Amino acid sequence: MQQYEVIVVGAGPAGYVCAIRCAQLGLKVACIDKRVDTRGKPKLGGTCLNVGCIPSKALLDSTHHVQFINEQAGTHGLKVSGLEVDVPAMQKRKDHVVRTLVGGVASLLKKNKVDVISGTAGFIAPQKIRVDHAGGASQDLQGKHIVIASGSEPVDIQAAPVDGDCIVDSTGALEFHEVPLRLGIIGAGVIGLEMGSVWSRLGSEVVILEALPEFLAMADQAVSKEAFKILVKQGLDIRLNCKVQEARTSSDKVQVVYSTGNTEQSLEVDKLIVAVGRRPHTEGLNLDDLGIKTDQKGFIEVDSHWETSVKGVYAIGDVIGGAMLAHKGSEEGVALAELLADQSAHVSYESIPWVIYTWPEIAWAGRTERQCKESGIDYRTGVFPFMALGRAHAMGHAEGMFKIVGDASTDRILGVHILGPNASELISEAVVAMESELYTEDLARMIHAHPSLAEGMHEAALAVGGRAIHF
Ligand code: FAD
Ligand code: AMP
Repeated sequence: MQQYEVIVVGAGPAGYVCAIRCAQLGLKVACIDKRVDTRGKPKLGGTCLNVGCIPSKALLDSTHHVQFINEQAGTHGLKVSGLEVDVPAMQKRKDHVVRTLVGGVASLLKKNKVDVISGTAGFIAPQKIRVDHAGGASQDLQGKHIVIASGSEPVDIQAAPVDGDCIVDSTGALEFHEVPLRLGIIGAGVIGLEMGSVWSRLGSEVVILEALPEFLAMADQAVSKEAFKILVKQGLDIRLNCKVQEARTSSDKVQVVYSTGNTEQSLEVDKLIVAVGRRPHTEGLNLDDLGIKTDQKGFIEVDSHWETSVKGVYAIGDVIGGAMLAHKGSEEGVALAELLADQSAHVSYESIPWVIYTWPEIAWAGRTERQCKESGIDYRTGVFPFMALGRAHAMGHAEGMFKIVGDASTDRILGVHILGPNASELISEAVVAMESELYTEDLARMIHAHPSLAEGMHEAALAVGGRAIHF
């Protein structure tokens, strides 16, 4: 039986990063993944590269150009006529981006001498894994440490069973080869809003049904309120307090029945995307036989060093819940590898950046104003609008705001919230500042290039002390 110091199950951003870091630290490591392409070739990179972060951003970028041509080119003095959208070509580009990056992960694993094994892994004992290969053969491996990084999969709801044709999940929503005339989306979370933006920019009439009464409850309220207004103005029909009861397909149309308060309403759409969250993917791992504890929702329970209830078995990434984000899983992968190599390591969960890639983008790190209030923290806020930034006007994207939440007594930065162009990039400054335990006063005194969008961060920090210059 092949022996390894570390066996990683799953080659998503948590698993492959953990495997590479283990190898860098001199550990003998195998990384197993079951995802293959239509020709049976391994597809590494997990959800993120294959059906998540990367393909969604490829489509968001393509359609952002469409939005620019339709809504802004004219104001730049650019007359564009006869624009034709070739959706299959757009999809081909997206697939190429994915293929390139998947190939990149394979090269990285090879370069670091990680043994990549294609097949479905399941525990046969706490330190033994059986891999079932696609052709029917199987192989047993023994590992001193085993890391479960098996990720997550879309939640399905009985009310709207996915058929892969008219009713799809996030994976299907990335694959449409023509623009649906009327598109329904269940769930106004990150995925629902991103997919809604893609297809709405291409001309779909998009209706998003969200069960909760509040829009983007996890974001800062000032940002979510403003984002709601902007997205609705862009054409997304976001209906809050609407719980989907039933979706039925007949003659290529989907009839969606939903309740809002005491009334029942219905909607007819050509395609329906179910985007109601993700659940841990643990099927076939035999966790119960081993006694690996999971919580009520099936997420694997781990201690502060990512060890499960079974000694020598660890879990990282989406399968343990928390922020189900690629970069969170990768950081856990690195930290765990370092612990397994007898080093010390830590993940700063408090300042994980969150991004929603609508346009304008929505990004935040740290606490919201409401969280500070609920925890009884005495705080101050500084808000600065993109409308007051020269660079934002030059770009033609002057919607949105920066908001900094600072501790009123210590002046430490507690949270930063951005709604605006390139918020996904701008939020990094906030992470650096919070991780470096900076004061809002530090940001207020640091020179930011002019004209740049980052000046908004500087001005928001000044605004915490009531001394913004340009607003
Ligand atoms: P995964 O990426 O899910 O990888 C797990 C891997 O394990 C899979 O390849 C699977 O095949 C394999 N596996 C599972 N069980 C077994 C088994 N028994 N044997 C062998 N292999 C197995 N996050 C962001 O940070 N930014 C974004 O912009 C973003 N956009 C997203 C957009 C969409 C549409 C979706 C669906 C997700 C998005 N996410 C985004 C979330 C992100 O994709 C996940 O947080 C991330 O992929 C989790 O990484 P992971 O390694 O834990 O698991
Ligand atoms: P996220 O977890 O960020 O992907 O968001 C999923 C969203 O779907 C949440 O905001 C849920 O409230 C919403 N949701 C879940 N079930 C339903 C349902 N039956 N009808 C409408 N919205 C739902």
